[in-house]
Amino acid sequence: MTKACYPGSFDPVTNGHLDVVKRAARLFDEVVVAVLENQSKRGLFTVDERVEMLRRATADLEGVKVGSFQGLVVEFCRQVGADVIVKGLRAVSDFDYEMQMAQMNKRMGIESAFLAAKPEYTYLSSSLMREVIALGGNIDGLVPDFVIELLKEKFANR
Ligand code: ADP
Repeated sequence: MTKACYPGSFDPVTNGHLDVVKRAARLFDEVVVAVLENQSKRGLFTVDERVEMLRRATADLEGVKVGSFQGLVVEFCRQVGADVIVKGLRAVSDFDYEMQMAQMNKRMGIESAFLAAKPEYTYLSSSLMREVIALGGNIDGLVPDFVIELLKEKFANR
């Protein structure tokens, strides 16, 4: 049995992330989506809110679980019994950083596998979604509908 861990900020989850989760779920027996708790970077959504959004968005996917972690991804992998880290690659700009992380994580004993982003999602990032909503733009079809509502609520309460 092969278990994969898909780590990230997911602030908030986008359809690009969900495409990676769905494809990973077909390749691995189990996928644990892991929200990184970054002490030095407060996000728009709390870690609990992000976990909740991911749980809702992946509820119908078999073999997918959602959790959160602090510290090293490889430690989280060991805790949950994941053998491989799965990541999405959007463009050449993702490559250098991901390569560096993958080599370090390999050194610490965990392999990485990369899925090429779906062409229609290559320009998608959580930060762009936050920015467009904050400025009143339309992101229909790029994140789940309920995430659009939650984003609007966040900015309305600011
Ligand atoms: P971002 O805030 O840039 O969206 P995350 O840290 O939440 O990034 O992303 C986690 C992982 O998902 C990273 O490996 C990133 O490359 C990948 N990813 C992010 N957006 C997409 C997308 N649109 N398509 C495929 N993979 C993506």
